Amino acid sequence: MENTKTTKTISKQTTNQVTKVAVAYGDGIGPEIMKATLKILEASGANIQPEIIEVGEKVYLSGNSSGIEKKSWEVINTNKIILKAPITTPQGKGYKSLNVTLRKSLGLFANVRPVNALHPYVHTNFPNMDVVIIRENEEDLYAGIEHQQTQDVVQCLKLITRPGCEKIVRYAFEYAKLYGRKKVTCMVKDNIMKLTDGLFHNVFKEIAAEYPEIESNSQIIDIGSARLAATPENYDVIVTSNLYGDIISDIAAEIAGSVGMAGSANVGRNVAMFEAIHGSAPDIAGKAIANPSGLLNAAVMMLIHVGKVNIANKIKNAWLTTIEQGYHTADIYEEGQSVQKMSTSEFADKVIENLGNVPEKLTPSTIDEKAGSISIPVYERKQQEQVLVGTDVFINWQGSNPEEIGNALAGLDSYKLKLKMITNRGVKVFPNGMPETYCTDHWRCRFVAIDAVTEGTPKYAPINFEQILALLSNINKIGYEVIKTENLYEFDGKRAFSLGQGE
Ligand code: NAD
Repeated sequence: MENTKTTKTISKQTTNQVTKVAVAYGDGIGPEIMKATLKILEASGANIQPEIIEVGEKVYLSGNSSGIEKKSWEVINTNKIILKAPITTPQGKGYKSLNVTLRKSLGLFANVRPVNALHPYVHTNFPNMDVVIIRENEEDLYAGIEHQQTQDVVQCLKLITRPGCEKIVRYAFEYAKLYGRKKVTCMVKDNIMKLTDGLFHNVFKEIAAEYPEIESNSQIIDIGSARLAATPENYDVIVTSNLYGDIISDIAAEIAGSVGMAGSANVGRNVAMFEAIHGSAPDIAGKAIANPSGLLNAAVMMLIHVGKVNIANKIKNAWLTTIEQGYHTADIYEEGQSVQKMSTSEFADKVIENLGNVPEKLTPSTIDEKAGSISIPVYERKQQEQVLVGTDVFINWQGSNPEEIGNALAGLDSYKLKLKMITNRGVKVFPNGMPETYCTDHWRCRFVAIDAVTEGTPKYAPINFEQILALLSNINKIGYEVIKTENLYEFDGKRAFSLGQGE
């Protein structure tokens, strides 16, 4: 079935018009590799017009904790495309991660990281590896919502949203379609996180059904990462949430032997940012030995994004040819395998010399001219019936006997709201807990309104928020400190909260 919902905007270039790009030279080796990359872009006829933006260490140290100047935002918002060299985040508190700021402020929801082996020219144990990791970039634990709630307990909220899942999963399938990839693998941990990772997985299954021509499968992230590390050649496109994607994309780059070689794209609806995956490598800055390949590969992704596909193929093939000819920077230079150790600028000149050449042994880049940017339909919320049926009340209590707090709270009620159970770190400790379970000072007390129980399944009664407020007031009156509450809902008649372990 053709996917009719997705509108694809392909900014195909009939004429090679000028593309204005916000360019950040970055820190450490950043300026060296950016100079080399821009020189290659210019020689290739890509017709890129860089507009320099100031970001990074200098901006941080001038007292700007976000690491980006106000006027740089204007350039980014006008040009919509950023080519960024790595930056150094100064040590110390108070400096915000520029990457996180850019991703979130500009809605760069997809992090795309192709990683492939360049065997035998770059050492790897996995000569047939060719995988693209598509990582959700805006939500999950990276929303950064953290609190210390009691003396013993801190929490970080894991937020997974349906629009976020739909965007990233559809992006992964559209990417596979555009780039002739055969399979998309989803990695989640929904055997444990049934609601959050379960949503990601369910959306994956829904959207996969719209792309029957592309094989799809799912793996639990732990075994998935282990298999990726052991047999990466079995993977094609992987789509996953923010934290898992962060981890597995580093595993993939490391085992490909190419941390200095891989580029990445951060793609949003209107803006996209392209960068190398590595950092500013202060240990080799100023020595003219840095490998510009990671940033160059990011620039190639940028050219495809703006529709300059033929030029992207031309640069990629010149680069592959250079690698194949054995002209290598120090990081990948190998006695006996390489022909000549080159400086950053010598390597760039060699790539320029090879423009128009196609590699003989490595697989040439033949990205289809139709490739370009992928656009994703605007999310449409489907209205669901949302019914309040209870509340989880989190209490800070220094005692250790669950029976004590349990019996005190079981004596309270408000309308039909009654204590159903208490958990500590998710494990049921009241009623009928196990004496071995260790209890911290953080008690989750579940109050629900139950009309009847049929074969062990409760039928919840609707309640209103005033009844919860009355309950909280009663809890407060008997001297327990409420630190937070979570409303318990049914959506379209289905329980939308997890049960306690042992409930
Ligand atoms: P790094 O990636 O800068 O360096 C790790 C190792 O790889 C170093 O030995 C380095 O010399 C080598 N290396 C990296 N890129 C190379 C290249 N192109 N050519 C040859 N060798 C290369 O990681 P790090 O040392 O952990 O971080 C240094 C700084 O970079 C930190 O301030 C960190 O915050 C920052 N950083 C920035 C970004 C970014 O801007 N996107 C990403 C990661 C780290």
